[in-house]
Amino acid sequence: MSRPDAPAGAVRQGSLREWNLAVVLGRIAAADHPPSRAGLAAETGLTRATVSAVVEDLVAGRLVTEAEPTPRTGAGRPARGLVLAADGPAGLGLEVNVDYLAACVVDLAGRVRHHTVHRADLRPLTPAEALRRLVELATRARAEAAREGLTLAGAALAVPGLVDDAGLVRLAPNLGWRDVPVPALLAGHPPLTASVDGVPPLVVENEANLAALGELHAGPDGAASFLHISGEVGIGAGIVLDGSLFRGARGWSGEIGHIPLHPDGPACRCGGRGCLETYTGQEAILAAAGLAGADLPADTATTRLAELAEGGEPAVLRALHHAGSALGVAVAGVVNLLDLDTVVLGGGYAPLAAWLRPPVLTEISHRVLTAAWSPVTVRPAVLGAEAAAVGAAGSVVRRILARPAGWLTHRG
Ligand SMILES: [Zn+2]
Repeated sequence: MSRPDAPAGAVRQGSLREWNLAVVLGRIAAADHPPSRAGLAAETGLTRATVSAVVEDLVAGRLVTEAEPTPRTGAGRPARGLVLAADGPAGLGLEVNVDYLAACVVDLAGRVRHHTVHRADLRPLTPAEALRRLVELATRARAEAAREGLTLAGAALAVPGLVDDAGLVRLAPNLGWRDVPVPALLAGHPPLTASVDGVPPLVVENEANLAALGELHAGPDGAASFLHISGEVGIGAGIVLDGSLFRGARGWSGEIGHIPLHPDGPACRCGGRGCLETYTGQEAILAAAGLAGADLPADTATTRLAELAEGGEPAVLRALHHAGSALGVAVAGVVNLLDLDTVVLGGGYAPLAAWLRPPVLTEISHRVLTAAWSPVTVRPAVLGAEAAAVGAAGSVVRRILARPAGWLTHRG
C-alpha cells in the first residue's frame, strides 16, 4: 500500500511520458519564479516540443496554469510563466485526537484553503460515533473545496496511535481505541470514496508522523533530518531523516512518549511504568502545576499554562521546567542515537516552547556527546497544533506532484 510520503518509486516503473510529466511538474512546483516553457526545456534537457506537449497535458488536467504575465522591460511580448493551479486537485487532511477533530484542505501549492476544528472530548464516544462526527467535518470541507473550484483527490487521516498498513488502528491508548478498522467504518461516505491511481481514497497514518511531514514542508530552515515532537495528552514523535519520514519496519516508529525514564515511575496508559509521557504529557504538566482536574480542553489548557508562565506563576514555571528536563533526557537519547541536529517542539509544546526549550537544551548539552562542538537546534514548530491535519492533506498533494500521470488517468 502506498504510504503518504513514498510515492516516487512508482515513477521509475512508469512510461517515459509519466516520467516527463513528473519532472516538468516537479520543476514548476520547486521554482521560485514561474518558469517559461523555454526555461523548463533548458533546465530539464527535454526538447521544446516535448515540454510544450507535457505542459499541455498538465494544463488540461488542471495541475498547472499560466501565471499572470509579468511585464518585460524592453521589446518583446511579456513573459508568461507556469504555476501550480489554484483550482485543481487538492488534499483533504483529517485528524482525530483525544479532544478535537480537524479537517483541512490543502491545494497543490501547499496553501491551506480550508481548516476547521471541532473541539470535544472524544474519549466517551465509541470509535464509530467519533468517526461519524469526522465525516460531518469532511463533508463540510468537501463543500468548501468545491466552492473554491478544487477537487479532492484523496484524504489522509491522522490518528494518535499505532496504525497498520491496512489502516487498522491497533492501539490508540489515550483514545481508548484498540483494533479499530477505520477504513471500513468510513467506507461509503461521500468525501472519501474516490480512488486515484490505485491509492485508497483514505490513508490512515500516525498523527506524529503526519505532523512531522507537515513541518518538513512548512518549516523555515529546510532541515532535512530532525525530530518533531507532538506534545498533547500523549506524546508522539516523527523522525525525518534526509528529507524522508522514517516510519520503521512496520510504520510504528516515534513512540517517544513511552521511552522509560524511571522503571519504577508512575503507571502509564500503555501498561508500563515511568514512561516519558507520565512526566511530560499534558495532564502530567497540569497536575504538576496544580491545575489537575481543571478539565480544560487541550488548546485552552496550553493557553492557560502559557499565560500563567508569562505571569511568572512559580508552580507553573516549576512544572514546565521539570517537564522540559524530562523531555530533554529522552531527546538527548534520541539525538545520541540518530545524530540529529534539529529538534522541533510541536503540537501543544509549540506555545510552551519558551519555557520547555531551556531545560531541554541543558539536558542536551550535558548528555549529547557531540553537543560541545556540534550544537543541536531546538525550536517551536511552525504549524503548531494543526500540523497533523495539514501534513495529512499535504501528503495527498505531494503524491499527485510525484506522480501526476495517476491523477491525469483518473480524470480520464
Ligand atoms: Zn507508556
